[in-house]
Amino acid sequence: MSPFENMELSEVDSMYSSSASSPSSFTSSEECCAVCGNEVVNSSRYGAPGCLGCVVFFRRAIVRNSTFKCLRDGNCNITNEYRCACRFCRLQKCFTVGMRPEAIQRRDLVGPRSPVDPKPSLKSLIDPVAVTENNIDDSSNLLQNLVLLQNQQTFKATQYFTENNLLSSTESSRRADSNDVNLMFKLCMNQASEWGRQLKPFKRISIEAKQSILAEYGFAFLLVDQGFKTAREAKDGFWILQNNTFMNADYFLGMPEGYEVEKTTNKKAELHEKFVTDLLNSVAKPFRDLEIDDIECAALKTVLLLTPSFSKRAVYAGQEGYVASVHTQCMEELMEHSLNKFPDRGEERFGEILLLISSIRCGIKAIYNQTRVSDVFNFTEFDSVVKDILLC
Ligand SMILES: [Zn+2]
Ligand SMILES: [Zn+2]
Repeated sequence: MSPFENMELSEVDSMYSSSASSPSSFTSSEECCAVCGNEVVNSSRYGAPGCLGCVVFFRRAIVRNSTFKCLRDGNCNITNEYRCACRFCRLQKCFTVGMRPEAIQRRDLVGPRSPVDPKPSLKSLIDPVAVTENNIDDSSNLLQNLVLLQNQQTFKATQYFTENNLLSSTESSRRADSNDVNLMFKLCMNQASEWGRQLKPFKRISIEAKQSILAEYGFAFLLVDQGFKTAREAKDGFWILQNNTFMNADYFLGMPEGYEVEKTTNKKAELHEKFVTDLLNSVAKPFRDLEIDDIECAALKTVLLLTPSFSKRAVYAGQEGYVASVHTQCMEELMEHSLNKFPDRGEERFGEILLLISSIRCGIKAIYNQTRVSDVFNFTEFDSVVKDILLC
């Protein structure tokens, strides 16, 4: 059962609209979706104001040349709550309110929108041409390109761990120590900044602004990556890092022999237990329950980059237009992906994925706190590069 069963999609919509960079800030607040009445308008580019669900619905219906049938008299009431019930009447309503098929851009029609191959060829992993700067945000397939980058990053990191003897075997996994944690922070800061460089709004801000975003986003990126891996590969109760080392709520599990127990050890063990339990419950469990896939993982990383916490929002000043357009594209592709994956409950699925963002933010707070008290997260031993970023 999904942990978000009781949330209404409208709550997700309003969460999505509460971000300062959301496209809805470009439309007047009185405007509603002309099709279903949803208060959060995504775009009017097809000829009438439409919410994300209705915009994606209209485009899919046109692009796929779908024909629907009404099971009643062709006069169903399309509201936010029941909009999925009758596709025939929903599409009729799209036309009635003025959405025009010819307004669908060529990009929408020609872009390869087939589901991504889960195992890209080795060539596409190694070949740096597969993902080149500048072409990502103009591409019709933002998320699929980012999944390629994601695969490249995992591949390169694993290669690095192997070459430097840092990879723990999966069968007899080793307890993560402060070197592992430090290394994963560095790795994720690098990967997060590489991710950002693919996206125009991030690419265009000053170095100081980038650092300020990365101080927070690096953690978000790390949590999504490790949560994703943990959900798919770890045994119950274990949180795993990118090099397969683990953290368990039991602080002493896997402790090297000859470990000296100090006065503060019990306190540390207590905090460690709370911390690991928090990560497992707020991130790994929902990722596992929802069986998050590569595209959804890439979408989460992207949305988190574009919607930093309130105190950091100002760093995108002057780039709001770019932020909104990348955000809209990411949301539309995620919605489309959800509808492809779950034709009957795609919109609900989309909402469940977006709700993970607040769980991830809780996890970020847990990490911040833990870096101050833990010896596994021993801040004083951290690399100066990581420290500089964390302190800014
Ligand atoms: Zn709508
Ligand atoms: Zn109908």
